[in-house]
Formats: sequence, structure tokens, C-alpha cells
Amino acid sequence: MNNYEYFDNVKKNAAFIEDKCHICGKSDNCLDGVYFDQEGINAVCMSCFDKGAVSVYISGYIKSRVINNVEEKAEKLSHTPPVPWIQNNDWQICCDDFMLYIGEWEQSDFINAAGDGNAVEFFYGLLCDSTKAKVDDINVLWEDIGYDTVAYVFKCKKCNRIKVVCQSY
Ligand SMILES: [Zn+2]
Ligand SMILES: [Zn+2]
Repeated sequence: MNNYEYFDNVKKNAAFIEDKCHICGKSDNCLDGVYFDQEGINAVCMSCFDKGAVSVYISGYIKSRVINNVEEKAEKLSHTPPVPWIQNNDWQICCDDFMLYIGEWEQSDFINAAGDGNAVEFFYGLLCDSTKAKVDDINVLWEDIGYDTVAYVFKCKKCNRIKVVCQSY
């Protein structure tokens, strides 16, 4: 597997499915075809994905978050394994580039990262704007992590800022 500028530890953080690869027929490390910009593909293995056989659909909305060298960065993101989103692709931006996806965090990860601080407040402080806008009661969202809510965590490689996107089933 390649090393990706925008995706940390593919083996651990990507979601693999059991289906056979649409291109080579193998079933090792297959990504779900739902994320690709071609129709009628069930699954593509990491080895075919690394060869550029298919690319991930990147909406104009995601692209519009970048200011400089948009096409170059979007092209790179489209050849980055997809975050296993429950809902729409909501890849985060910082310092005018796509952030590094570092995986899904559980409550325990936020508690560890918060150190002596209040973990719920720490968690709230990391939320991306669109998640924040949807929060009625932060404690409810917090208690739902690991149940119906997934917390996707991104890190900026330039300034180390962390942003969290929450999506719920
Ligand atoms: Zn394949
Ligand atoms: Zn940054």
C-alpha cells in the first residue's frame, strides 16, 4: 500500500469489505465501490486503487474549501483512500490544504488526549464548524460516540491542529 499524504495508516483506518475487486478479482483489502466516481463498481482492492484504476469522487463543495492549487490537491485527494463516511464526504481543510485523516476516535482517545482537562469540553473544542452547528447538547453527542455516532479525526500537517467531524447513523 502506498503512503498517502492525506490518510494515515490505511491498514488500520480504511474500511475494507469482503467483495471481490471489480478489476483483478482478488478479495484482499477491497474498498467499497460506493465512494468511487464510476458507477457499477462494487469494490476495488488497494493494489488496483494504488495503480489509479479508479478515483474517489470529490465534490465541488469539498474543492471549494481550498484556495490555491485546487486541482492538484483535489487530484491527490481523489487518489487517497476514502474515509468510511456514514454520510457525505466532509474532508477537512487547514492551512489551505486537505488535512491528514488519522482515524476514528472513541471516548477513551479524547480522554487520553485531553490529559488533565475536561474531555467533553476538549472534544467540543475540536469539532468542525458544521458538526458544532448541529449540536444541541454536547453531552448527548459525547455519550453517543461508539454507538450511533462516529468521530472522524483530522490533523493538519503544518500547524498540528486537530478537527473532528461527527456523523451519525
Ligand atoms: Zn484489484
Ligand atoms: Zn493548519
